[in-house]
Amino acid sequence: MTPEEFRRHGHAVVDWVADYLDHVERYPVSSKVRPGDVRAQLPARPPSSPEPFEIVLADLDRIVVPALTHWQSPNFFAYFPANVSPPSILGELVSAGLGVNGMLWATSPACTELETHVLDWMVDLLGLPDRFSSASSGGGVIQDSASSATLCAILAARERASGGTTNRTGTTGRLVAYATAQAHSSVEKGLRIAGIGSDNLRLVDVDDSYAMDPAALARALECDVADGRVPFLVVATTGTTSSMALDPIPAIGAIARSHGLWLHVDAAMAGVAAIDPALRWLNVGLELADSYCTNPHKWLGVNFDCDTFFVADREALTGALSILPEYLRTAETGQAIDYRDWQVPLGRRFRALKLWFTLRCTGVADLQAMIRRHLALTEELTAWAREDGRFELLAPARLNLVVLALRAGDDATRELLARANATGRALFTHTVLGGRYGIRICIGGRTTERRHVQAAWSLLSELAG
Ligand code: PLP
Repeated sequence: MTPEEFRRHGHAVVDWVADYLDHVERYPVSSKVRPGDVRAQLPARPPSSPEPFEIVLADLDRIVVPALTHWQSPNFFAYFPANVSPPSILGELVSAGLGVNGMLWATSPACTELETHVLDWMVDLLGLPDRFSSASSGGGVIQDSASSATLCAILAARERASGGTTNRTGTTGRLVAYATAQAHSSVEKGLRIAGIGSDNLRLVDVDDSYAMDPAALARALECDVADGRVPFLVVATTGTTSSMALDPIPAIGAIARSHGLWLHVDAAMAGVAAIDPALRWLNVGLELADSYCTNPHKWLGVNFDCDTFFVADREALTGALSILPEYLRTAETGQAIDYRDWQVPLGRRFRALKLWFTLRCTGVADLQAMIRRHLALTEELTAWAREDGRFELLAPARLNLVVLALRAGDDATRELLARANATGRALFTHTVLGGRYGIRICIGGRTTERRHVQAAWSLLSELAG
């Protein structure tokens, strides 16, 4: 592709993406293809000579788009959202165009310094404790996902608890970690990867709202200590995946302090809502946390992948992850941040650009307004569901998540979900809470308005019979 062709096709691609986003509401939210359908339309081998770009673009419409779940549809209420926004898309484009690898400060100083700076902005914007800012002993880094952030927290906690011995001997000894069964599966996955193992994750009891019971945490700790185990980590969740439950961070933090545990707070979805000052209560107790993560790629219009991960003691993190071979040594080693030491991979993309573009071109006020709109719509939906005697809420509706079930029972709820999703007019997902099957409705689409939520509710209530 010549530079001139690149320019021309690049404009066509931006037009194509703009048209897609303009029209995304028209598509059935989920596709009807069967496993193997996409591959059946693709040639067995790549072409030996270049194909016209127009044909490649046409294949996007012919093969790819019909086989998509349209996450950017305003009728997408499934899982948690993965919002994009035009400024963020442009930030991604620039990142691709620059093609830098920011593994070290020296390999692209702007990549590192913009990231540190924008994450300090996030500390300020979300009202996070100062100890997470780079001006303190801590700081922030962009990870690809909350799962990676949690893994890094586990590795740092493991290293601190063992006085650095796990890095030398590789044995994790008798370390045990704590979370609830409502915590994200990435906690258990991280413990497996770190060599701690699933059996050394204690699932602490929850209360009626599915939040961690601090008294149960204290009891579990005492039992383990009496058994000669070494408690090293508690992962608390602000906004669980199934029901947006809020673990009580102040009480958990106090227990963690008294036992010398690392406290990691996973606020993957809910945390960014604190951009609205009225929701700063979400951060209560965070001054007791050793690490914290939240995902602008879920609810802030920043393209996946963008998890913001903060630590109170950056040396605890780099102490766990830093290995310095000669070929990575630079004149600035030890004087500037080398983000390779803050993550699992060596190489890293210039992700800060999309966050920087989004914050600057959308503006904080609009982002706050979006969060408020979602919360108001969720309240309305909750009221409609409460008024309809056929439905019940399986958990307190929190922030932008409602979990509904039919009083008629699990089979009826399951069938309602399947029939609603089959229409393509909206997409919901499910969970199980307290042994009951429920439909999760998360209102988080950047372009989701009242009419979409009304239509979603009409769909469910019409099909509920
Ligand atoms: N933590 C919570 C509470 C989540 O809800 C999710 C995903 O929905 C994750 C972690 C994992 O997120 P990621 O895809 O960024 O790894």
